[in-house]
Amino acid sequence: MSLEQSDVVDTRPKQRQSYRVNKLEKRIRRATGQAIEDFGMIQDGDHIMVCLSGGKDSYTLLSTLRYMQRVAPIKFTLVAVNLDQKQPGFPEHVLPEYLQAEGVDYRIVEEDTYSIVKDKIPEGKTTCALCSRLRRGILYKTAKALGATKIALGHHRDDMIETMLLNMFYGGTLKSMPPKLVSDNGEHVVIRPLAYVREKDIAAYAKAMNYPIIPCNLCGSQENLQRKVIKEMLHTWDRQYPGRIESMFRAMTNIVPSHLADAQLFDFRGLQRPEDFQGEGDLAFDETPIDDPTRFLTEDDRDGIEPQQGIQITQL
Ligand code: SF4
Repeated sequence: MSLEQSDVVDTRPKQRQSYRVNKLEKRIRRATGQAIEDFGMIQDGDHIMVCLSGGKDSYTLLSTLRYMQRVAPIKFTLVAVNLDQKQPGFPEHVLPEYLQAEGVDYRIVEEDTYSIVKDKIPEGKTTCALCSRLRRGILYKTAKALGATKIALGHHRDDMIETMLLNMFYGGTLKSMPPKLVSDNGEHVVIRPLAYVREKDIAAYAKAMNYPIIPCNLCGSQENLQRKVIKEMLHTWDRQYPGRIESMFRAMTNIVPSHLADAQLFDFRGLQRPEDFQGEGDLAFDETPIDDPTRFLTEDDRDGIEPQQGIQITQL
């Protein structure tokens, strides 16, 4: 029996799509595993509270940690926690339905921080600082009540770069969001397992996985304007100068205190004779060499991109 042409279904686009999602998933998992390893984020017996806002980053974090749980040679447990801040229009059913369907242990904590913030902050003023402080306090309290040994947040590589630039532009300090830190109340270890993961990978993955995303602007507050500007600048650079963002992130993992100007970090005063310096000498008079940043791209990203030879200073 011969098939009519219209009976033949072309499955290739679907296969190509699932191949792409597999690759993306592998890349996210690999980067997460690497960050967990590099920073010693998880230990045998850890009970990790995963903060779930309902945004793309937190869903990706949760599903990647669940995968790690299945394949890691150590045992650790996860509990997903969402804080319902009682913003008008918050779809309360979305996360419980998703988490139940996935079989994830979870808690929904209900605290009306929205009313507190509205009450305390005059109309038109930005509410994020107080809102975040209240949220942080509640999450720490919850972690304690749950006996969590670590708190996992969904910040990714691009959040870290943006924060570093924000601190440089407005804070007069060279610091970012570390992959691992002790909470400001001194009681918790906070980890960011997506520290090596690119935001564009998370966005594509969340879309492919069809996560039930909860919009983050329910409170009606404006996104931090300075962060928005930096985000747009980074997007433009990413399009125009492939490899620049990768190089910037690489720089955050490759710091040379003797080549900055923080006397607390490097003993410049003690450096009086060449033999006082432990390490290799360096250029004193020459320009820093400008090299091709596309070398920091992955094989996939490099497809179709010309190496940037003979880069001119005017391009920077
Ligand atoms: S955007 Fe709204 S919910 Fe988010 S931190 Fe700011 S005030 Fe809070």
